[in-house]
Amino acid sequence: MTPIPETHVLLTGGAGFIGSHLVDGLLARPATRVTVLDKLTYAGARENLAAHDEDPRFAFVHGDVAESAVVMPLVATADHVIHAAAETHVDRSIEGAAPFIATNVTGTHVLLDACRRTGTAMLMVSTDEVYGENAPGGPGFVEGAPMRPRSPYAASKAAAELLCGAWFATYGSVVTVVRGTNAFGPRQFPEKVIPVYTLAALEGRELPVYGRGEQRREWLFVTDWVAGCLAAMERGAPGAVYNIGAGRELPNLELARRICGLTGADEALVTFVADRAGHDFRYGIDASKLEALGWSPRRSFEDALAETVAWYRDHRDWVRARLAGAGTAG
Ligand code: NAD
Repeated sequence: MTPIPETHVLLTGGAGFIGSHLVDGLLARPATRVTVLDKLTYAGARENLAAHDEDPRFAFVHGDVAESAVVMPLVATADHVIHAAAETHVDRSIEGAAPFIATNVTGTHVLLDACRRTGTAMLMVSTDEVYGENAPGGPGFVEGAPMRPRSPYAASKAAAELLCGAWFATYGSVVTVVRGTNAFGPRQFPEKVIPVYTLAALEGRELPVYGRGEQRREWLFVTDWVAGCLAAMERGAPGAVYNIGAGRELPNLELARRICGLTGADEALVTFVADRAGHDFRYGIDASKLEALGWSPRRSFEDALAETVAWYRDHRDWVRARLAGAGTAG
């Protein structure tokens, strides 16, 4: 029997939320090796990868994607790069955008150049926030819609995407982009909305809901999100962009109430707080282009939300360790 050729994936940001689930998804495949490059910022944790420490197909490198001396030799040994490392929290980008420019823009440039020099294919993990705000009830954005980012975070991701498009057009780089909707699931840093609401509800504290809770977000369980990335990596066209969506859209207030229901918390704990500056009302994307590659979500929102809430209830040490290293939360 002919052995299956081995694929070596270099994954940036693999110690973060989606990154660690990407490692799980990649190593579940035969003949796949994964090297994670991660700076271990407040959002990254070595502990998120502990399940793979004994696997000889897994390696971890502590380093910065914006340093070409670190990136170049790693890219040279890889068949494929998945670039998921980023500064990701919108509120932090409003407080100070410099780390977002350094990691999300300069880091992407460094990776693109390394991939160009070595002829390595790259998947750029981006966000639906690059589209900017969508109208209430309007159709989902398709990939050809203009990018109109409104937060410093979204602008830094749009800048990174524009670099990817330029490297494809100018140098023929094999780069594909995914724009994902909001992911949720275990190991999401406890400053993002689902863990923040869940931990508050579990601890009997107020659930802080921005504005009047009318903003709508589309939620997709992280394993489905990861499967969308891998479908685009394996079957997507170079130079193309794919939305990862088809999740459940609901207003933040309803999300908070559902989490109260799952934890047994009193809905009176839901508290309205001052709205985020420039808070996008909704995104709303059309995922049919990715679905045409044979991808579709597997998990129901209700089951996945219950599983996620239970995970946070059962992993309080993980939460404490993350918050102890982070300085802020919420
Ligand atoms: P996260 O904040 O949980 O993790 C980010 C990871 O990147 C961390 O492990 C961190 O240590 C690492 N990192 C940060 N700066 C780095 C640098 N300079 N060099 C190397 N590593 C660095 O992020 P996430 O929520 O898992 O998001 C992963 C990717 O998916 C990001 O590119 C994000 O823009 C994108 N995305 C996320 C969502 C979501 O809902 N979480 C939605 C759309 C797109």
